[in-house]
Amino acid sequence: MKKAVFIDRDGVINYALENYVYQIEDFKINPGVGEALKIFSDKGYLLIVITNQGGIAKGVYNEGHVERLHDYMAEELRKSGVSIQAIYYCPHHPSVGNCLCRKPYSLMLEKAMARYGIDPGLSYFIGDADRDEQAAKTAGVTPLRIKPNTSLLDVVSLVR
Ligand SMILES: [Mg+2]
Ligand SMILES: [Zn+2]
Repeated sequence: MKKAVFIDRDGVINYALENYVYQIEDFKINPGVGEALKIFSDKGYLLIVITNQGGIAKGVYNEGHVERLHDYMAEELRKSGVSIQAIYYCPHHPSVGNCLCRKPYSLMLEKAMARYGIDPGLSYFIGDADRDEQAAKTAGVTPLRIKPNTSLLDVVSLVR
């Protein structure tokens, strides 16, 4: 079985703004992210991003924006020697229609674990919100919490 560090996107990898981040010029990677992810990767963890993108359901932006941004994110992180295994996003929003994937639900985590053969007991989910913590607990993954837009390096020592 493999192990993974799952990572929330907005507020953890990149600076979360008041409004949705979907333009490359608004996507600022927080300090310490590259270094922290490299440490996890060197310890043998797969790196998988788990993000709610309800702005799609609301019509604020589309899947093309998200995929373009994610290509950019992966490219930027590669400069730190980090390779992202996969990115899961939920495009839904309860104001438009319910789904089973939007955090606090855990379906994105469960899909990733099934796909890559990941043991939840060996894995972590780093987030900045209650819904991240809830999704982690439901999936049996250890939750780690940072304050929004602070350094991922703060939790590096908590990952075995
Ligand atoms: Mg967040
Ligand atoms: Zn969803």
